[in-house]
Amino acid sequence: MSDRAAARSSRQHVVVIGGGVAGLSVAHALRAQDAAREIDVTVLERSARPGGNIRTEHLDGYVCEWGPNGFLDNAPDTLALVRDLGLDARLQPSDDRARRRFIFRAGRLHPLPGGPLDFIGSGLLSWSGKVRLAMEPFARARPEGDETIHAFATRRIGREAADVLVDSMVSGVFGGNAHDLSLRACFPKMWHLETDHGGLVRALIARRRQHPRRHGEAMGAPLGRLTSFRDGAEELIRGLVARLGDVVRTGVDVQGLTAEHGRFRVGIAGDRPIDADAVVLASGSATTARIVRALDAPLAATLDAIPTAGMVVACVGYGAHRLPSPLDGFGYLVPRSEGLRTLGVLWDSSVYPGRAPHGHVLLRAMLGGATDPEALALDDAQVVSVVRAELQRAMGIDVTPDFVRIFRHPTGIPQYTVGHLDRVAHAEARLAQWPGLALAGNAYRGVAINACIADASPVAARVLAHCASRASRAAVAAGEGQASGAKASRSARPVLR
Ligand SMILES: Cc1cc2nc3c(=O)[nH]c(=O)nc-3n(C[C@H](O)[C@H](O)[C@H](O)COP(=O)(O)OP(=O)(O)OC[C@H]3O[C@@H](n4cnc5c(N)ncnc54)[C@H](O)[C@@H]3O)c2cc1C
Repeated sequence: MSDRAAARSSRQHVVVIGGGVAGLSVAHALRAQDAAREIDVTVLERSARPGGNIRTEHLDGYVCEWGPNGFLDNAPDTLALVRDLGLDARLQPSDDRARRRFIFRAGRLHPLPGGPLDFIGSGLLSWSGKVRLAMEPFARARPEGDETIHAFATRRIGREAADVLVDSMVSGVFGGNAHDLSLRACFPKMWHLETDHGGLVRALIARRRQHPRRHGEAMGAPLGRLTSFRDGAEELIRGLVARLGDVVRTGVDVQGLTAEHGRFRVGIAGDRPIDADAVVLASGSATTARIVRALDAPLAATLDAIPTAGMVVACVGYGAHRLPSPLDGFGYLVPRSEGLRTLGVLWDSSVYPGRAPHGHVLLRAMLGGATDPEALALDDAQVVSVVRAELQRAMGIDVTPDFVRIFRHPTGIPQYTVGHLDRVAHAEARLAQWPGLALAGNAYRGVAINACIADASPVAARVLAHCASRASRAAVAAGEGQASGAKASRSARPVLR
């Protein structure tokens, strides 16, 4: 039997646990990299509807996102995936108005300045705060070891700017607490910018030379353009699921994992276990810890040490004429020091026109996060009451919404607290004991959709390399078996004769 035939004779099976964007992207990458279809792939998803955090509801003419409202269009892997799925024509870039971003401070919304000079006239910071911000190029050098985002920002731009500008961004992007999150893990580019340019102002100038600011764009706005699909973010999931076909099995609750003779056995609630040659764990760090506990307790303990921050998303719709002023921008963030429970409000129908019925607007308010875990326990009426009171304070909206829908994410967003990179390194070291076992998803190497997709191809490549080495070992063993069988039959011949 040839090596190839030997490898083919026992087809290998890769199981991906979790059908969020990370698990589906890994399955898609496995299929793409195994063009000869020598490996079987199965995605096991607990819920009846794949996609995890990414889910779009079309309700009463509103397009409501459960979680993400898009991705930045500067990530080549995401764009390649979109193209491959034939979804390019479905992309919906955010409206130009979405470049205007606001921060709530001292009772009103302030536009985020477009450049360092615009800070002079801005009411966002006091004069002493502005002077301290201007001293950024003379900030003291970085201390040894991991540094929190807040410590980094205080060192470079001063306490007030850290509290107002950076704290609000951290709670808006990560639902996180800037005093706990690791700069290097959350904003690796920022960490490198300080190393490469010696300071943020210098880095900003260099960045702007390469990427001139678009008209009206706020300073510090991401380089890419926020982008979604015409029917919402879930179009990406539907595209992946359609491409993967019966590879994706829903309603399958994975309970545990064991290993024997270099293969894995995936335990399923209420069903027979599934055997696999390789397993990709894309079910979020907390669930994954539970799944691997019996297999590798130290790995489970490391995954347990990655905290998550629950989020509550409240979609509220109004007749546009009932608002005191038109929605014209991306929305606003709220520094924790302002005393509101709202982390931020996205003006979704301004970011993506068409997300509300004609003559109406859609806002999405975020509550919860690392600094307010109690928000997850609020019932719908309490959420609406908080959102209404705080929209009145920030935007002067004092009318009842025509439309309300509330979504809760108990595990929400992983928190890359100080020491996160060491935890991931430790998890990787444990995985080295289990060839064929891999981690994927937003708990490890980037919290955003783009990071999950970028990670998929290298994860798939590692898993396929493992399968290839198993196949060649099997082929060698089969060859040796044949040779020793032939030798045995040759030596047996005289006896037989
Ligand atoms: C409110 C909110 C807003 C966000 N906004 C943005 C944004 O605008 N842009 C952006 O880029 N990112 C955003 N994110 C982050 C983004 O949602 C994540 O990066 C991404 O969706 C994570 O995908 P994932 O596949 O790693 O995890 P998940 O989406 O959590 O998927 C994990 C999957 O595993 C399944 N699973 C769990 N346990 C089991 C089990 N035992 N057996 C089988 N299956 C199991 C789950 O059902 C789920 O489908 C946001 C997140 C939240 C919560």
